Amino acid sequence: MFTLSNQSGTSLPSPAAIDLDNWARTVTLTNMSIVMLFLLVVAGAVLLAVLIGCIRMLTRHMRNARAAEKDIQAKLRPDGLPYPPSGRGMCDNCQKPEDKIYYMPSGKRLCAECYRILEMPSQKQATLEGTGEGNKGENAFDSC
Ligand SMILES: [Zn+2]
Repeated sequence: MFTLSNQSGTSLPSPAAIDLDNWARTVTLTNMSIVMLFLLVVAGAVLLAVLIGCIRMLTRHMRNARAAEKDIQAKLRPDGLPYPPSGRGMCDNCQKPEDKIYYMPSGKRLCAECYRILEMPSQKQATLEGTGEGNKGENAFDSC
């Protein structure tokens, strides 16, 4: 380091040394700012990734719960009794081929519509009252 001597003999730092000290301090502060900014960005990215992961997990959990509830509803009638076994086939009542035919314990095969009309009369009544077709109830069986 360059030093200048004043008249009393004490040494003072040269102007170049003062500039170097200021420069070093400025560079150090700038570097620390850059490092802090980088750490903030990394911490933000980690927090964002954790947040996205939590949202995805919650969404997946809700979707699975909804699918499980749908499965249970598909296997149970509205009155809580289980539906009979089903498969593809021809309805014995309306003679239509369907993807979902219920195999009744009596050996009869019914499509979903005929099953609803024949096996769940309370459902039939509720449906007909809901649609305002109460007077046409006599023909609902024939149209199946
Ligand atoms: Zn049918």
